[in-house]
Amino acid sequence: MMFFKTKINHDFLRNFMNNSVLMNWSMLNKTILILVLGGLDHLLWLGWYGFSYFSNDWNEFINVEYFPFNISIMLILTGTFFLLTSICYFFRQRKWVQLYFPYIALYFFAITYVYSGYNIGIISPATIAGYISIVTVGLMLFERKLVYSILIPVTCIIIFSSLKTTFGHFPYAPIYSQSLNLSVLYHNQFWVFSQMFFYIPIFIVTLLLYEILITQWRNREQQIRNISHIDPLTGIYNRRKIGKFLRAMHAESTDFAVILLDLDHFKTVNDQYGHDMGDRVLQKVAMILSKNVHENDLVGRFGGEEFIIVLKEKSLEEAINFAEICRSQIENQTFYDGNRSKIYCTASFGVSISDQRKSIEFILKQSDRALYLAKKNGRNQVRHCFELLNRS
Ligand code: GH3
Ligand code: MG
Ligand code: MG
Repeated sequence: MMFFKTKINHDFLRNFMNNSVLMNWSMLNKTILILVLGGLDHLLWLGWYGFSYFSNDWNEFINVEYFPFNISIMLILTGTFFLLTSICYFFRQRKWVQLYFPYIALYFFAITYVYSGYNIGIISPATIAGYISIVTVGLMLFERKLVYSILIPVTCIIIFSSLKTTFGHFPYAPIYSQSLNLSVLYHNQFWVFSQMFFYIPIFIVTLLLYEILITQWRNREQQIRNISHIDPLTGIYNRRKIGKFLRAMHAESTDFAVILLDLDHFKTVNDQYGHDMGDRVLQKVAMILSKNVHENDLVGRFGGEEFIIVLKEKSLEEAINFAEICRSQIENQTFYDGNRSKIYCTASFGVSISDQRKSIEFILKQSDRALYLAKKNGRNQVRHCFELLNRS
């Protein structure tokens, strides 16, 4: 039971990270997430404010005259968060919601944070750290155009209020009592704990979102790298990957054998049974070849109905034997079309081995010429490069 549960959690987590849940979300879904987080943060904030006001120990640090006004504003803001969330959620199919609400919601979010920042001290660790965290999360989740359209006015307001506060035109941190604001803030436990209380939830959520997005980016990068090396029809490597593999072995001076194979009269298979059937034959041949190669070797689709096998540290004889096994397996494989007619397919093989003095292109050319020899000699057979020397 325990194992079952852990597995479900594991699968859920893997899907969550792989399916790019957050990254691929629509702008509206991301907006809903931000609104929910904003609403929850404001609830925490209200809790802190009420608790501080009604607690005998902390009450002296709260500006009691400002409390009724501020608590009303905070309640309205919190209610608006949940109202906007509901509109975005319940009317999510409506064009006007998809188009305008991300802007309305994010502007609203920014205004509430400027207001909170002003209340707790525009020049305070929680406000500055919160500003940086929210901006970076915003840039990761939303279009830059949208983020900058909010970021620029908000930054101007923050700078303006900071200057006004410095010159004494605006009160500093009006939520706190005069006695607290005039004391040495860093020596006041209430102030220090409050700063932590304001910033820690933002910090944890930012970290969590970062972790999800960065993991998804890494996964996506890995997937793109894999896709760029795979032939979509057969699922084996493509020509790009084969080229890389050959160049790497050549650079390391590793010996290898190259087998090129081409299906015989494949045009006839397509013409008689259709292109789809032709595709299925190609897939089956790819499977046969893949089953035979070892982990250090490589099988790929070289193009059309042509495949390539690269065998690491194999002699010509070993490669010929290997090609012979594949040839016989393809010959003995029966394919069926939709009408249960039997289709037979054969392939011709050309084998060559590496030579440090020769280029990769030359080695491939040798395999190709051996393959041509196999075709010329009647197909469904294995030929190798040294036969070419003997003939010339
Ligand atoms: P040969 O024995 O001389 O190789 O004869 P062939 O008919 O196999 O050779 P040809 O080069 O004339 O034809 C190759 C055919 O392979 C033509 C093309 O339609 C088919 N082909 C290439 N790629 C694909 C593919 O992805 N799917 C299918 N179904 N057919 C393909
Ligand atoms: Mg061909
Ligand atoms: Mg062919």
